[in-house]
Amino acid sequence: MTIYRVRSKLLSICNVISSSSFARFSTSSHIPPLLQRIGFVGLGNMGARMANNLIKAGYDVAVHDVNPNAMKLFSDRGILTKESPFEVTEASDVVITMLPSPKHVLDVYEGPNGLLQGGKQSRPWLFIDSSTIDPQTSRKVSEAVSDCSMEDKKVSMLDAPVSGGVMAAETATLTFMVGGSEEAYLAAKTLFLSMGKNTVYCGPTGTGSAAKICNNLAMGVSMLGVSEAFVLGQSLGIPADTLTKIINSSSARCWSSDSYNPVPGVMEGVPASRKYDGGFSSKLMAKDLKLAAASAQESGLKCPLTQQAETIFTELCDDGHAMKDFSCVFRHYYSGKDEL
Ligand code: NAD
Repeated sequence: MTIYRVRSKLLSICNVISSSSFARFSTSSHIPPLLQRIGFVGLGNMGARMANNLIKAGYDVAVHDVNPNAMKLFSDRGILTKESPFEVTEASDVVITMLPSPKHVLDVYEGPNGLLQGGKQSRPWLFIDSSTIDPQTSRKVSEAVSDCSMEDKKVSMLDAPVSGGVMAAETATLTFMVGGSEEAYLAAKTLFLSMGKNTVYCGPTGTGSAAKICNNLAMGVSMLGVSEAFVLGQSLGIPADTLTKIINSSSARCWSSDSYNPVPGVMEGVPASRKYDGGFSSKLMAKDLKLAAASAQESGLKCPLTQQAETIFTELCDDGHAMKDFSCVFRHYYSGKDEL
């Protein structure tokens, strides 16, 4: 039986225990030793909250970020902070990364003082990258991680991006879409369930990243379609409220119309109802569409809607709306009006 299978068996028992709220906040005694020490690199909007949930779940967490202020929020609470990704590996059995883009991921794994500097002496047996990046980069980094394996110690990597934004990171209700070895996935499932409520195994390395960019491609394009429909509707004299009722009981119903409506005044509690503050930024949407467009090009596919959506969201960012929620495209690209 491989070491992963032993871990998987232990962890399937742990999964049952960790589903109770008692286990979530109890001491760490239920966590097997090889899953006890977790390194976390990238303490931004998402990562800081995810690391906090691991700490609440009882793991021994060591963290690193290039931003000293992000580190201070942890060191002030007595959490172990490290000066480089490499130092994080020395204190960790598993390392999780949550970084802005492929470039940052390559830097943190393969750069000077990076996670893989220890080579075959590397302590962690598993690296999990939850950043939204392209599948090609996920596969490249995973190969470099595999090179750290030795005959008696397999070192693995999972690409495990998330859906759900900052609120879901805060409340540990993220969904993880995971690519890589299924054994490693099963072994890490308790970790995912400390930071989220759902995990989906997608297949071999790169498929988690592929799932994420495909989801966001569809989300970006559907937001544009819904926004265009509402702007045209307004100009043809149909109030957005009425059109929403029609769409939501007709064939065009989708998340952008029934849960995240872009027209101010139609729904409460969405970014459109608070001047497009909070939510998922236009900057991140433009980034994800760029990743999707590059993947489509590499695969030799025609994806004109992806390209067009990337152009629109990039323009929105260049016009000063990069940090606004991406549904602001209704107002700031199409010049849609409030519903009164
Ligand atoms: P963020 O910009 O808030 O945080 C990124 C963190 O990484 C920052 O603290 C930054 O200092 C740190 N960092 C950058 N380079 C580093 C390096 N070389 N070494 C160490 N730390 C470094 O980003 P975020 O909103 O937390 O998003 C992280 C990832 O999650 C992105 O890939 C994003 O696309 C994805 N994501 C974000 C959301 C969201 O709503 N914010 C939702 C789903 C997925």
